[in-house]
Amino acid sequence: MKQHTPRKRFGQNFLQDDWIIARIVEQIGPRPGDHLVEIGPGQGALTKPLLQHDIELDVVELDRDLVPRLREFAPSRAGYRVHEQDALRLDLSAIATDGRKLRVVGNLPYNISTPLLFHMLSQLPYIADMHFMLQKEVVERMAAGPGGRDYGRLSVMIQHYCDVASVLDIGPECFHPVPKVDSALVRLVPHATPSAVDADALATVVRQAFSQRRKTLRNTLKGMIDEDGIRACGIDPGLRPEQIDLEGYRRLAGLLPTAE
Ligand code: SAM
Repeated sequence: MKQHTPRKRFGQNFLQDDWIIARIVEQIGPRPGDHLVEIGPGQGALTKPLLQHDIELDVVELDRDLVPRLREFAPSRAGYRVHEQDALRLDLSAIATDGRKLRVVGNLPYNISTPLLFHMLSQLPYIADMHFMLQKEVVERMAAGPGGRDYGRLSVMIQHYCDVASVLDIGPECFHPVPKVDSALVRLVPHATPSAVDADALATVVRQAFSQRRKTLRNTLKGMIDEDGIRACGIDPGLRPEQIDLEGYRRLAGLLPTAE
């Protein structure tokens, strides 16, 4: 089969360092009986070592030129299925048909990583955990706590749904072609008890609060929540958005009318 030329439009940077691939699989930690879904398997850098484990594996690849070779790895292996599909339209309920929750993994195409993350978060009841390789800078923003520059909308929204941990740094030299950015592997574990706070209301407050990072909540939330409301949430209206923790934002979101 002819050599595949990496395609920029599909965000193709293929892992090529066996040592780091082994560390990534170690962090994923496949256990017998697990059901994994790999987003963007590409040329199978992670798929092949994952298939060494006693697991079920569904892989979802958009580039139709890569699909035949993915099928060839293990044509007769039970529990290995290749889907030629856009992961942004992936319906996990169609894969998690036996009640087992899925472990979702992938070296994500960076150009669609944020929408893909939110697509997965919208299907959390089917997910046990997720391990994604992303731009290191994005992982730092996802995992950041209040007080620093990295803390923002992405941190609050992801942490509303999941525990977030950055578990492995991956240098550009581990990929072909070599990307311009550093990468990291992030582990996302959905909270055992999902918060009762409406995610749309939370997103509205957080978007508004961080629309002007240098301003105080008194100013940024004007027209949405007044000073008394902010104080009633136990928050000083003179604070800046990066000084408010997730619980604070959840209390503020609780003041907004929810869409029926
Ligand atoms: N997992 C491989 C590796 O680590 O070498 C490939 C990673 S590469 C960064 C991203 C992969 O996602 C590519 O194979 C690309 O074709 C695929 N991809 C891009 N957009 C996709 C989408 N919307 N749905 C599914 N796969 C996609």
